[in-house]
Parts: sequence; structure tokens; C-alpha cells
Amino acid sequence: MNVEFLGGAREVGRSAVLINDELLLDYGMKSGTPPGYPVGSVGPEAVVVSHGHLDHVGAVPALLSGDDRPTVHWTPPTRELAMTLARDTLKLHGGTYGCPFTETELRRLTQVSETHDYGESFTAAGHEISLYDAGHIPGSAHVLVDDGETRLCYTGDFHTGHPDRGQRLVTPSTARPDADVVICESTYSDTEHDPREQVEERFAESVRRTLWNGGTVVVPAFAIGRTQELLLVCEAHDVDYYVDGMGKEVTEMCRRHPSFVRDGDALDRAAGHARFVTGRDGQRERIAAENTAIVTTSGMLSGGPAMSYIPEIRADPTNLIAMTGHQVAGTPGRELLDTGRAEIDGRVMAVSARVEAYDFSAHADRRGLLAYLDSYRDATVLCVHGDRCPAFADELQEEGFDASAPERGERVEL
Ligand SMILES: [Zn+2]
Repeated sequence: MNVEFLGGAREVGRSAVLINDELLLDYGMKSGTPPGYPVGSVGPEAVVVSHGHLDHVGAVPALLSGDDRPTVHWTPPTRELAMTLARDTLKLHGGTYGCPFTETELRRLTQVSETHDYGESFTAAGHEISLYDAGHIPGSAHVLVDDGETRLCYTGDFHTGHPDRGQRLVTPSTARPDADVVICESTYSDTEHDPREQVEERFAESVRRTLWNGGTVVVPAFAIGRTQELLLVCEAHDVDYYVDGMGKEVTEMCRRHPSFVRDGDALDRAAGHARFVTGRDGQRERIAAENTAIVTTSGMLSGGPAMSYIPEIRADPTNLIAMTGHQVAGTPGRELLDTGRAEIDGRVMAVSARVEAYDFSAHADRRGLLAYLDSYRDATVLCVHGDRCPAFADELQEEGFDASAPERGERVEL
């Protein structure tokens, strides 16, 4: 088997791995100005997508240009998320470098799509494939690839939930399919998350206190996974909440696929109690004056309805902005946490409202990664999707693993 790393190697973003020159695993894009895409020119026979986040699926429609029609394999939620993201990219960046495809390729995507459940095996570009629940977001999968000689497990992004209860939205991943090679994400290879119960309790306590004191809480959250997780948390802790942005649509999508969430009834209850914001006729300004919590995109304050809420609530220290995801350097969310100022629509504003950060991560932390890899002591481990892949590979070597961190563009023979 040969494996070529087209992106997501020694970086987070634009994940893409080519197997035996014909089978592509993920084809993501790295958001930013300018955005980043996988390297090299590819014309794969088939594509398997691990999950519906932009950095894993964002550039897939671009594979359908000209006469190329690779079959695209994924779970039903991943398919829906990919379509939602592609429509959003087209709307925001269509016709520019920020969108590597057009309406035409997007339409073709529905014709080449094949969906699969976890555990069902199928053939793609002559390889035998099975998907296993990765516990990251609804529909996320580890991809097991067998070319007849070598079995390779590509983890995508995953969460084991170890050692605490894990996420409310999806069940922690317990799948450990036999493999000779593991391509393992390492986003949090040097981080230990606090137990989820504690994070949740601190978040709920601070939100409740703010509401008792008459304040408003804005909860910036990623649309996919995080918004739904926060609705479940607010519901469980009896907090009154609105939901706004692309997370509304994704919440409805998750409800259509209850077998891919941990507790479909709980999600129905949480969505039932959420008040969905349309944003018409100054509705956001009115809500911002209410004594309530608002879960809204974007998670890093780089757009979305959060841009309407933050200017309304920023001046009053009674109010709270509760960040719920990792804030990448250079984003307005990171800037706000570091300096207490936020750049909203090109205007830098001082923020007197309290700003707090909570780690609701959907990834395994260092302990989770090590516990997972303990099942693969005899395998070759290739570390990807992190800011310190070579360092993590070195640490694994010290633990006796055959581990390395390929570079972007590198081809590995196994
Ligand atoms: Zn992800």
C-alpha cells in the first residue's frame, strides 16, 4: 500500500490522504485569507469522507469538475453536512478563490453519493472499506481500508470520552478495528481536558448567575456539533435559550438521523425548548435586551448572527460572552479573549461584558489518544492533524511505538 499526504499533515485543516493513487480519504479546505487546499492534482476513482467538517469535506465538490465522477462514500449525516457546507461556501465565496467549485459540481455531488451505516462493508476503488463510529460529531467515522495486503485505519477526528462521561450529543467511540497501520489525528496531543461534568457545571453556574443578575448571555458556538451540544447542556441545566445561525439547520438535520446521536429524545426536547431566531424586523436587537442565553454562530466571531448580538451586549459588565470552542490565533474570538477588544464588521470595539472560555472539545485529549493507540501497539502509527505532530510521534516512539509524522506532500510506502 502507498499513502500520499495531500493535506492535514503537520497542520490542522485541508485533510486529504490518497491511498494507492486511486482512493481518496477526505478532501478538506483550510479556512482563512487566503484559504488553503490539498496539494497536487488528483483524479481519484472514489472518495471516502470521515465526517462533515469543512477541514475534511470542504473541497470535495471540486473533485467533480470536467469529466471526473468519483463515487463519494459517507454516512447519511456526513452527506447532509457536506451539502450544507458546500451551499454556504458557494453563497459566501462563489466565483472567488474561496470557493473551489460551482453550482454545477455541487449538483453532480448528489449523483455520485453513496451512503453507508457504521459496520457495513463496501468496495471503493477496489478496496474493502468499513466505517466505525468515531464519537466526534453525528455521522463521524473511522475509515478502515483493506487493499488485500494491508489494513489501514484512518481515524478522522474522534473522541473516546475517556475518562469522563463525554459529550451529550454523540456516544464516545469504542471502535478498535484490527489494523496494520493507523493514521491518527493528534489535535490535543499535549492537552488534558477537564472532565466534561466539571466544564458543564462551571458553564451552567456562570450562565445562571448572569441571568439572575439581569444580564444577557451570548454563547458563540460552531454550527456543526457544538450548537447541538450546547442546546443539550442548556436544556439539562434549565437555562432559557435561543438558537441562531447555521446551527438551527444542522440541529434539524441531526433530528432526522436519531440513530447517529446519543439520545434522540433528549435532542428533540432540547430543540423543542429552543426558540429559533429568524432575524427579521430587528428581532436580534430585541432578544439581546432580554434576560436569556443565545447560542449562535460563528464560534470564533468571524461572522454570523453573533456579529449582531455582540455590539448590543458588549458595553454592560452584567452580560456574559461564553466562548465554547478552540479559538484559532488571528480570529476575532482569540483577539477578544486575549485583549478584551473585538473587531466586528471591521470596527474594533472595547468589550466590558465578561468574556469566559469553556473547553467543550469534541476531540480525544492526550489521555484519550494514548488509550486509543494502546490497542495498536504492533501497528505503524502516522500522526496527522495537529500543531505538534513530530513531537507527538517522538513521544510515541519513546513509548515503543513505530510512529512518525509525515509531511504535507510526502508519500509513504507500507
Ligand atoms: Zn472535525
